[in-house]
Amino acid sequence: MADCCIIGGGVIGLSLARELARRGAAVEVLCRDPLDRTASWAAAGIFPPVVGGDGGTGVERFTAWSDRLHWEWARELADETGIDNGLRRCGGLHVAGSAAGRTRLAGALERWQGQGVRSIPCDGPEIAAAEPALAGAVADGTIATGVVLPDETQIRTSRHLDALFAACRSRGVTITHATVHGLDITGDRVTGVRTESGTIHADRYCLAAGAWSGGLAKELGLELRTRPIRGQIVLLRLPQQVLTRIVSFGLDYLVPRPDGRLLVGATIEDVGFDPVTTAEAEADLLGVARRLLGDLPPHLVERTWAGLRPGSADGLPTLGRGPRCHNAWVAAGHFRAGIHQSTGSAVLVADMMLGQRSPGRPPIDDGEFAPARPPATRRADGESVGAYLARVAESAAAPP
Ligand SMILES: Cc1cc2nc3c(=O)[nH]c(=O)nc-3n(C[C@H](O)[C@H](O)[C@H](O)COP(=O)(O)OP(=O)(O)OC[C@H]3O[C@@H](n4cnc5c(N)ncnc54)[C@H](O)[C@@H]3O)c2cc1C
Repeated sequence: MADCCIIGGGVIGLSLARELARRGAAVEVLCRDPLDRTASWAAAGIFPPVVGGDGGTGVERFTAWSDRLHWEWARELADETGIDNGLRRCGGLHVAGSAAGRTRLAGALERWQGQGVRSIPCDGPEIAAAEPALAGAVADGTIATGVVLPDETQIRTSRHLDALFAACRSRGVTITHATVHGLDITGDRVTGVRTESGTIHADRYCLAAGAWSGGLAKELGLELRTRPIRGQIVLLRLPQQVLTRIVSFGLDYLVPRPDGRLLVGATIEDVGFDPVTTAEAEADLLGVARRLLGDLPPHLVERTWAGLRPGSADGLPTLGRGPRCHNAWVAAGHFRAGIHQSTGSAVLVADMMLGQRSPGRPPIDDGEFAPARPPATRRADGESVGAYLARVAESAAAPP
């Protein structure tokens, strides 16, 4: 019998499994889907710069800590598995052309500067000089202004997941393909999780099933209010890379990979549990790439995919123990920042499950992420699903 059983093998479940195994626990992970069908695999892997100093909000400090941990984990994972997860500070360039887009970008610049994030405003000619592939968009007025964020970072999420998977395996974690249909609860303890091939028993359990966590959380007496928000991405294979930085244009973005691939993302769709790609979304995303980079031949599309972001009502992840069972925790609802926040989530939840406190853990108010946080004290530090969808509607009405 395992010490710890984790339901879900996305970035949250695998990161937690690695952290628990590293501390000597016997761990079993149950995952319904192959890795490349998870939201984690679908993610663009953008880490917006976050300073998270004393003046920052709780979730900013948490994300900044996770960001720092990512650099340690990338080195360790490379040593443990030989896989380079592609974490690199490539920088970002946020651009706008319309009056509405310029106003929104000016507001964002004010926020970044207020947070102490390195942010450098630039005009059209400076943008064309920094990223020559955007010169045509500057010339035709699609882009009028921009802000460079030198600390924006990217990670190759597929490689990061492969590295986590391999690291878990090498530390003896059992990773089982299984769908959990329900929990067996006796008194204040979970005694097993029911799968199609039998019941799995462990001493402690963690629910890390992404957008699907809500149903099982109810059995733990929790109302998680996670909601799936579909994101589709198109991957282009260019003869050679044309960008150096991540380029963000309103809510759309282009992420250049060193091997010449260019990721164009992402749609934001409130369509329920339907992780399919559509021809319409592919055409829209290619339209964004063409507006910014000029004509692109259609045969450059290598692959399209979709994932379901685990949206949360207040934009904050839920990390902690529910009110009903002493031996069951939840790590879910990371919405648009799950890759970025995965390392901090893993260390924090492992601390909770093993009753430890990791050395070097900064003072994080874990009550802020507690499953039982009352709605009245919920803080909208993260961006809630509702606020995000409102921003999408605003951007559609007045494009960037
Ligand atoms: C298009 C897109 C772009 C994104 N871009 C970024 C980004 O740039 N930066 C960033 O930080 N984040 C980004 N995200 C968000 C990020 O991907 C998510 O927050 C994160 O992957 C959530 O991880 P997870 O492990 O909770 O969920 P998932 O990756 O969805 O994993 C859930 C796991 O639970 C399993 N599961 C579900 N139900 C059951 C069950 N009943 N029994 C057994 N197993 C079950 C699944 O099979 C899977 O293994 C993006 C997401 C999308 C879709």
